[in-house]
Amino acid sequence: RIVYVNGEYVNESDAKISIFDRGFLMADGVYEVTTVLDGKLIDFDGHAKRLTRSLNELDMKPACTDEELLEIHRELVKRNNVEEGMVYLQVTRGAADRDFAYPKDAKPSLVLFTQDKPGLANSPAAQIGMKVISIDDIRWGRRDIKTVQLLYPSMGKMMAKAAGCDDAWMVEDGSVTEGTSNNAYIVKDGVIITRHLGNEILSGITRAAVLRFAKEAQMKVEERSFTISEAQDADEAFVTSASTFVMPVVEIDGTAVGTGNVGPVASRLREIYLDEMRKAAI
Ligand code: PMP
Repeated sequence: RIVYVNGEYVNESDAKISIFDRGFLMADGVYEVTTVLDGKLIDFDGHAKRLTRSLNELDMKPACTDEELLEIHRELVKRNNVEEGMVYLQVTRGAADRDFAYPKDAKPSLVLFTQDKPGLANSPAAQIGMKVISIDDIRWGRRDIKTVQLLYPSMGKMMAKAAGCDDAWMVEDGSVTEGTSNNAYIVKDGVIITRHLGNEILSGITRAAVLRFAKEAQMKVEERSFTISEAQDADEAFVTSASTFVMPVVEIDGTAVGTGNVGPVASRLREIYLDEMRKAAI
């Protein structure tokens, strides 16, 4: 496949990044993942805006303009014939002598590649629902910045797999923060409940769209924290992310949620999300 590295489109086997890149040495970088459906980008603007925010929060310079970014995304989708899949983008502070203090004028590294994910929208998992376990949230305190520091979420995913489950919900001070790579929701008596935004969670681009669609469909939304036992006692649970859209959760720590089957609110939101986002794809 063709990848993009600092201004050039090259074969993936020819792509090169310095071993002194601070993304590699210190996880000093941020990323975005934009989904592709029917060869088009889903919510590119949302991802571009969040990237700008992540860069600002870390005192990093953008590697190029949003227009250039869009062009690179489109070019890669075209060159790699991506119909259904994603574009991964990473900006790191760049290469510098290894030191905790970073040079203000480091030249950022920009890398993009695509991944094919056929069947993303028609995923059988969306009919079955996911099983999750709960784990302590021991990540750093700025989870609102989408850094490439993903070791603990990776470990959480492995803990879930070891327990025969699909994912882990992280818990801090008794409340669910989010999933390893998604935002978490419950539904009780028709009300959709998801944690309020703050430094404790990533502000999901899918979350923003789903909450907007829910409100437009006259569904009630409450942005507040909730516990694992409240979730186990809910009528439904689900997660959202760019790559899974709306994905039902049917079991939490071995306890069935509601009927233990995929519920109507999650199904309806998934359908609305996919319909609306396909229409708006660019
Ligand atoms: N929280 C975390 C920790 C994530 O990694 C992700 C996926 N990037 C999300 C939430 C969902 O964000 P989005 O809807 O923008 O994919």
